[in-house]
Amino acid sequence: MLDQLDELYRDVILDHFKASAHRGEAPGASFRAEGHNPLCGDDLTFTATMKDGRFGQVRFTGKGCAISQATASMFSAQLEGKTVEQTGRLIRAMKALMQGETLEASVDLGDLEALAGVRKFPVRIKCAALSWNAIEQGLQNLHQSRAEGSRP
Ligand code: ZN
Repeated sequence: MLDQLDELYRDVILDHFKASAHRGEAPGASFRAEGHNPLCGDDLTFTATMKDGRFGQVRFTGKGCAISQATASMFSAQLEGKTVEQTGRLIRAMKALMQGETLEASVDLGDLEALAGVRKFPVRIKCAALSWNAIEQGLQNLHQSRAEGSRP
């Protein structure tokens, strides 16, 4: 499938797949999110430090196809320094990108734009979406555990 992607997109994706600066575990992580895509056999675990509602260091481990692993790398890079609210905007932007909808102009996708070509391959969208679905779920869990923790 990578052969059919535009060359520019393919190179960005392959760079992240082969040598990600974000692979590993974030030391002292207070955020954790996991995702599995049984259709393709992709597995991802994100760990991140969080301070004042903002992501610090974001790292991922996992295995699977180039799209899933490259997306995790690109997504980790984009999450660093983002608030929960900005992360929500980024996730919405990625969902829009996969559906070929117009993006919010204020969201900078960075290398994630390379995934625009993936929407031509519907089966692969799940491989890419694994990252943001996992983070979205992780943030929901975080929110819930905070809400429970603050109960009298
Ligand atoms: Zn995959």
